[in-house]
Amino acid sequence: MRTVRTVADLRRTLDAWRAEGDAIALAPTMGALHGGHLALVSLARGRADRVVASLFVNPRQFGPSEDFARYPRDEARDAALFRDAGADLLYAPDAEAMYPDGFATTVSLAGPALGLEADRRPGFFEGVATAVVKLLTRTGADEAVFGEKDYQQLVVVRRLVSDLDLKTRIVACPTVREADGLALSSRNAYLDAAERVRAPALHATLRATAAALRDGAPAGEALRGGRNVLEDAFDRLDYLELRDAATLAPMDGLDRTGRLLAAVRLGATRLIDNVAVDLEG
Ligand code: AMP
Repeated sequence: MRTVRTVADLRRTLDAWRAEGDAIALAPTMGALHGGHLALVSLARGRADRVVASLFVNPRQFGPSEDFARYPRDEARDAALFRDAGADLLYAPDAEAMYPDGFATTVSLAGPALGLEADRRPGFFEGVATAVVKLLTRTGADEAVFGEKDYQQLVVVRRLVSDLDLKTRIVACPTVREADGLALSSRNAYLDAAERVRAPALHATLRATAAALRDGAPAGEALRGGRNVLEDAFDRLDYLELRDAATLAPMDGLDRTGRLLAAVRLGATRLIDNVAVDLEG
């Protein structure tokens, strides 16, 4: 597996593969790899002839008080893990290669990019979308894999690709979890031992709330119960919401396939998670 950093090197390699008729799948990441990222690469590996992994800690998706400076970075470790997972190429541009002097264009979003994460992280999805458009157009990948762990991001990216007529198919990768249910996340590294013990309550509460909804509990009641549990278990509840799984439109009851999404604060760390809520269980 080679590492390339410039658009010219990226295009040269991918054009040669395309000339051989190879289908290309992209797995975009910010590094600090864990099993969730490697699941994206495995899924891509099973769907395309060539797998490109990207590693870019995108400054535009971090707010001024967020953890851009201390975000864990270890490219040598990440490269070895990508290679072992079956990636053919690592695209690791530096910030100047993504946003050269004079860069002045941002993707502006509405619809699924409003509310939930956007309420706590202004500008986050615009930063994600700007980088994603560039990664998709630079690679021209046939498919790109995104994790359900960041469910709102997945829906925003699907909308973006459809609205801007990008040709890449977006593929969803199910969330990879620890044995106790905690979704793998690069930010779990910030949790101390006591916080790590408390963290699985997020997924447990999402599951319990989903079960209550499936059993016919009124949505307002099920959500109130779930919010109470999360408020007790964590240091702050940002949201627990039932949304339409495809559009993220609010839902008053379980009349179609939904998604329960939640975000909490645990010490200095923000945790997000989500689960499906299907009518038929
Ligand atoms: P990040 O490096 O955190 O930006 O994540 C890169 C990609 O990996 C995104 O599409 C995430 O949704 C996905 N991802 C992160 N954690 C997980 C997980 N636990 N399971 C599945 N995908 C994940």
